Amino acid sequence: MIKPIIEEKTVERIRSLVNSAGVIAVTCHMAPDGDAIGSSMGLAHVLQRLGKDVRVVTPDMVPRTLQFLPQMRDVTVLTQDEAAAREAISRAQLVFCLDYNRMARIDRLAEAVEMSRAPRVLIDHHLEPDEKAFDVMVSMPEASSTCELVVRLLLQLGMMNLVDRQAAQCLYTGLMTDTGNFTYGCDNPEVFEVASLLVRRRIDVPYLYRMAMNTYSADSLRLQGYALSEKMQVFAEQGAALITLTQDELTRFNYHRGDTESLVNKPLAIPEVKWVMFLREDTDRVKVSCRSKGDFSVKELCSDNFGGGGHNNAAGADFMGTIDEAVAIFYDILSSTALNCPEPSSPGPS
Ligand code: MN
Repeated sequence: MIKPIIEEKTVERIRSLVNSAGVIAVTCHMAPDGDAIGSSMGLAHVLQRLGKDVRVVTPDMVPRTLQFLPQMRDVTVLTQDEAAAREAISRAQLVFCLDYNRMARIDRLAEAVEMSRAPRVLIDHHLEPDEKAFDVMVSMPEASSTCELVVRLLLQLGMMNLVDRQAAQCLYTGLMTDTGNFTYGCDNPEVFEVASLLVRRRIDVPYLYRMAMNTYSADSLRLQGYALSEKMQVFAEQGAALITLTQDELTRFNYHRGDTESLVNKPLAIPEVKWVMFLREDTDRVKVSCRSKGDFSVKELCSDNFGGGGHNNAAGADFMGTIDEAVAIFYDILSSTALNCPEPSSPGPS
């Protein structure tokens, strides 16, 4: 049984907003991941079947690994066509905000959304949503994914019959990617019931896994191999690992966004490693990405030291300093999370 956990009055407000809007925009966070674009496209398909004029608008490009999702060509990308993105928002009578908790997460798209008078409906599972930014909120940090919440909302709206194979592909993709193919964030058995409802739409589960989670270019595989063999430092006694990649190294391997997507998870395979930090040098910042297993939380570690945030086992930040400064912070954290700091293991043959 999937229990109705969204407040009935919230569901009814969303129903009446959808009923009275002919033109709807669905937005998601920048650098969209499987959950952001999957939930947006899945909801958009359903709203289209209700006869609505719907546009999915993203702040920037959807990564290549997610381009296989149905109707991706219909997505309006602000960095590709700013005028079209602004127009889609300004003509919308209702704006859905999926998989983000504050306007800063949609980058320059925020200007258009803030200028619009259309009501904003949040559906999201990140902590601490900015309550002032949204008119109606379905905010449940305990949910596995925004896709799970979209399915729950559709169930409570009595609209699951509108979820066809295309919508199910999108929604399953987000459920799968945000749970690492059902390996974390899915303690609640109802997550599998939600997945089951989607699999019933005769989606091709192995195909979706291969496309969304196990597709890499040769360059990307080589970059990951290099990172693990030459750039991974393991601090077994402190239960930590660090991987750094500089702009020069990324250029050497013809880096494209998404190429290091799951790299940060790899050191967690080492039994002694409880948490991992991956630092990727960008043009004007350092992308900080942390993962942990068990009770060790990386959320505070990312927010306190780098001004970022996230979940207990997966967090990140945009650090506006140099990669050397970020590494120095890592060592500070390392010495404060353990009393004795022996020499790190060799990062590999040089
Ligand atoms: Mn998500």
